[in-house]
Amino acid sequence: MDSQHHPAATAVRARALTKVYGSGEAAVRALDGVDVDFAAGAFTAIMGPSGSGKSTLMHLLAGLDSATSGQAWLGDTEVTGLDDAGMTLLRRERVGFVFQAFNLLPMFTAAQNITLPLELAGRAPDPAWLGTLVATLGLADRLTHRPGELSGGQQQRVAIARALVTRPDVVFADEPTGNLDSRGGAQVLSFLRTSVRELGRTVVMVTHDPSAAAYADRVVLLADGRVAGDIVDPTPESVLAGLDALRTLDEVH
Ligand code: ADP
Repeated sequence: MDSQHHPAATAVRARALTKVYGSGEAAVRALDGVDVDFAAGAFTAIMGPSGSGKSTLMHLLAGLDSATSGQAWLGDTEVTGLDDAGMTLLRRERVGFVFQAFNLLPMFTAAQNITLPLELAGRAPDPAWLGTLVATLGLADRLTHRPGELSGGQQQRVAIARALVTRPDVVFADEPTGNLDSRGGAQVLSFLRTSVRELGRTVVMVTHDPSAAAYADRVVLLADGRVAGDIVDPTPESVLAGLDALRTLDEVH
């Protein structure tokens, strides 16, 4: 095991993380004191009913939005202590994003889309790493194609390569299979898992799909802006059971 690989290390941490949108009677407590750790070198899914705070949590952890109170860290950097310029730098240098809508630039080839984050950061591509990503994601014969000439699943694989090309500390994936058919979705999920197991990356994925969540090493369940469950080595069945338990709790209250 090389010196950069500490399986027990924490990639992302939140303590009493709270987000309130609006004020007065219109105030919505989207996150209500979240304490959570995401291990480095692991694939973690965040699940919960619609409106439970999944996107808000991801946005705060990734430096896309600021917290009302509480703290979040990416490695040793306190994300909640950064100003706008610091958050921009953190997103560019240390975080990779995969969105439901792929967000590729239509006039660029797959290869150009993949290396775009390096161009923006003024960094030269590492040919060995680029080669590994392209081979792992099965994109070698698609590099000169534009997004319009690729299937949804292929476009999302390009987006994953783009998210990984800077070797970010963490990749945040927001419903990455939401626009894919089941075959394309399954491929994307196995590539996310491979990028963790074989390439040592860290992935945090928001999803509402129990079978997607079952690809992860662990599932964190949210309900009403709080952590409401934690499932290690999830299966579609254990995730469904966890979600059902949340619903039952809701009915009791
Ligand atoms: P999820 O991703 O689990 O569906 P969200 O994080 O999107 O949940 O939303 C959590 C709560 O915060 C919901 O009640 C939602 O309506 C509210 N919310 C999210 N974003 C905003 C916003 N920009 N302004 C006001 N309320 C918001």
